[in-house]
Amino acid sequence: MSISIDPDVCIGAGQCALTAPAVFTQDDDGFSQVLPGKEDGGGDPLVREAARACPVGAITVSEKGS
Ligand code: SF4
Repeated sequence: MSISIDPDVCIGAGQCALTAPAVFTQDDDGFSQVLPGKEDGGGDPLVREAARACPVGAITVSEKGS
């Protein structure tokens, strides 16, 4: 799994960090960031939930090979 956040789309709503706090955090300006080392989702099932929760669809979750 690979997570990407489009910073041009993110409005800092914070739903991702609320939904999957083990993977997403918010920077000082309130915009979302993936926590260091969690770019692969860390196996957290809440990642997809967080992507759905984003009101502007800024989070892309893609599957990699295995
Ligand atoms: S839920 Fe979406 S808009 Fe809100 S902080 Fe996360 S990525 Fe940004």
